[in-house]
Amino acid sequence: MKIPRSHVGGNWFQAKEGSGVELRDPTTEEVIASVSSSGLNMGEAVQHARVKGGAALRELSHASRGELLIGMSKALHSIRDELLELSMTSCGTTRKDSKFDIDGASGTLYHYGSLGQEMGDSSILEDGEGEQLGRSSVFWGRHARVPRVGVAVHINAFNFPAWGFAEKAAAAILAGMPVITKPASSTCLVTERCIEAIVDSGVLPDGVLSLISGSVGDLFDHLNEQDVVAFTGSADTALRIRSHPNLLARSVSVNIEADSLNAAVLASDVEPGSETWNLFVREVAKEVTQKSGQKCTAVRRIFIPEESRDAVVESLIEELQTRVTGSPTDDSVNMGPLATQDQLESVLEGISKLSEVADMIHGTGERCEGVGAPEGKGYFVAPTLFEARETGGAGVIHELEVFGPVSTLCRYDGTSATAACLNSLGAGTLVTSLYSDSEEWTHDFLQKGGSYSGRFYLASERMASQAPGSGLALPSSLHGGPGRAGGGAELGGLRALDLYSQRIALQGAKRTVEGFVRS
Ligand code: NAP
Repeated sequence: MKIPRSHVGGNWFQAKEGSGVELRDPTTEEVIASVSSSGLNMGEAVQHARVKGGAALRELSHASRGELLIGMSKALHSIRDELLELSMTSCGTTRKDSKFDIDGASGTLYHYGSLGQEMGDSSILEDGEGEQLGRSSVFWGRHARVPRVGVAVHINAFNFPAWGFAEKAAAAILAGMPVITKPASSTCLVTERCIEAIVDSGVLPDGVLSLISGSVGDLFDHLNEQDVVAFTGSADTALRIRSHPNLLARSVSVNIEADSLNAAVLASDVEPGSETWNLFVREVAKEVTQKSGQKCTAVRRIFIPEESRDAVVESLIEELQTRVTGSPTDDSVNMGPLATQDQLESVLEGISKLSEVADMIHGTGERCEGVGAPEGKGYFVAPTLFEARETGGAGVIHELEVFGPVSTLCRYDGTSATAACLNSLGAGTLVTSLYSDSEEWTHDFLQKGGSYSGRFYLASERMASQAPGSGLALPSSLHGGPGRAGGGAELGGLRALDLYSQRIALQGAKRTVEGFVRS
């Protein structure tokens, strides 16, 4: 039985057989591994990362840290095919969906590596311009950011075992903080292989990157005011982490990326058959079914003008019918199973709750057989589309994130004001996509509802030829949303480094202040 290892204190650690949680291939339901962190000394892991890894990183300039990230990216790329295979068998993602995770990981590391190289020999982050504070420039002020002298603990969700680890690690390491990464147990085999490849490449100084496979144990009890916790996962777990007594008592910085009821909004100016209409249909179908809907950025609510209802339903169902659900290793399949039995149960329960306020207009609401999968096996749910009974939708449609290939159409009057109001019922989302060729409509929506999402994907015929889809979290744009989305902020270029550094105000002689900031 495969037992995924942890890497702490500069060494590999394997829990004893029989102590772990079983992991299954989501297509065949065969047991493929057992994961546990039982026996790991979390206190020593934290101390080693802080003392060895942190000290080593703070000696380096941004450019040198950038080189480490590029080395990490190359280490992942060198085992790309192996990672894609592992993702298909252990996470149930198709090869295309696996690329989204694996290439996203190496690409994001490379992006931050390049940013580091552009920053050159500096090791301090400048923060705005300097200014005269006294009668003359003798007394001078400026802000800067310095690395926190602690460890960054990263807790990730099951749906992006490679990218989730990489996007957080890239920012922390560039800022000068060592990382302890803890993937979700169910898909940790991919993360374990990523860390193995990076450790074997020898690119990182001792203590810069540690891995915990299995539960966090008493890890949080060992953290202090210089440490950071960055979490991605469900709102329930987020609340438990936020309210951990030691994290509260020591004011440990906690960043949360949680649930999100993302919306795609079709404006009333978009005519059936137009370029923007076709983009809307193509992208919404993709954002409902990519990774079997197990994406924090997936479209959960679709707002459509009343008069476009019939045409939208026809086009969207036609597009969803091209999805073939089944084994990721079958060439005809373009949507895999859900990741775990728990996920399957939770999605079926969510579908049943949505049925109370919406009509199912595509899908069955039940587990289905997967093409190329053993009969009766696999956590398969076909794409499922609901239509809200009430105009605008009600209740769970705006409250419950069903983390699978499930979405709900809500009719509205086509105005930007109503659309913004409906979007706000989600209580804060990661991304909202607006499909309109009217700048007036788009600007009005942003003015009325701009504070309810972390990112707005403004789709129109003018950008259609380069549109990547709203689900792509680009390293240069902010990832994170207000309210129920967790209130966190990741990526966004160098903004991501804020979490891992302390902003300081410097007041003194101009030469002393400027000399430090430029060091
Ligand atoms: P989850 O059950 O909350 O687990 C997330 C992570 O937290 C896992 O690594 C889990 O470890 C760990 N964990 C569980 N209980 C913990 C505790 N008491 N203390 C510390 N860590 C704990 O979420 P999930 O099912 O993996 O992911 C699905 C959710 O993530 C969805 O709601 C989705 O919206 C959200 N998500 C959000 C984003 C975003 O960027 N906003 C991105 C991806 C996913 P174990 O697996 O070992 O239990």
